[in-house]
Amino acid sequence: MNLIENLNKIKTSLKKDVELIAVSKTRTNEEILQLYNAGHKVFGENRVQELIEKQEVLPKDIQWHLIGHLQRNKVKYIAEFVHLIHSVESERLLNEINKQAKKYTRIIPVLLQIKIAEEKTKFGLDIDKAENILKTYKENFENVKIIGVMGMSTFTDDLTQVKREFQTLKKVYDKFQILDKEIKILSMGMSGDYELAIKEGSNMVRVGSAIFGEREY
Ligand SMILES: *Cc1c(COP(=O)(O)O)cnc(C)c1O
Repeated sequence: MNLIENLNKIKTSLKKDVELIAVSKTRTNEEILQLYNAGHKVFGENRVQELIEKQEVLPKDIQWHLIGHLQRNKVKYIAEFVHLIHSVESERLLNEINKQAKKYTRIIPVLLQIKIAEEKTKFGLDIDKAENILKTYKENFENVKIIGVMGMSTFTDDLTQVKREFQTLKKVYDKFQILDKEIKILSMGMSGDYELAIKEGSNMVRVGSAIFGEREY
């Protein structure tokens, strides 16, 4: 498995305004360093514990994205350094991120994770709830900035369903851009569907196994 070859193949296939997050969960520091030494500095993790262990020992100019479900009591461990949180799913979580960001006199950029999957098990905000948060959060939260939306499609081979779900998220993104000019990121697409996601308007893709190979848990 040549990670750098995989990374470069994906990078050259992306449109130039699409950012690639290399999803490094379960991968070793050595694997991450291979990509880092080849010039890639943007990585995504879905577990706080794993993220902080890696952040501590890996180069400090890596931009770490938190892409997975985030518990409020763990925000304090990542508030000092996290580059972007993709998975804000409630106002209470946003409140906690704001509080921890203040301690470091930072403004932490975040995405609202929107429920787009037609299957029932996925995390995320209902669209109305997300819109309400976007319209009101600035009154109370000075240390967070909502800069976009994130979504995960249903895990299915039915690409017409995935496409429909991506189109739903794109519509939300377009609407939110009209409501708030800070909105500029549409985070959707993973190894199996990032090409489709980009066709449907994504400008940030989160790709793990297509770079690193299949994960073994
Ligand atoms: C693991 C994960 C990814 C990447 O998944 P791959 O299929 O390996 O590309 C993307 N987004 C989230 C939220 C993830 O947890």
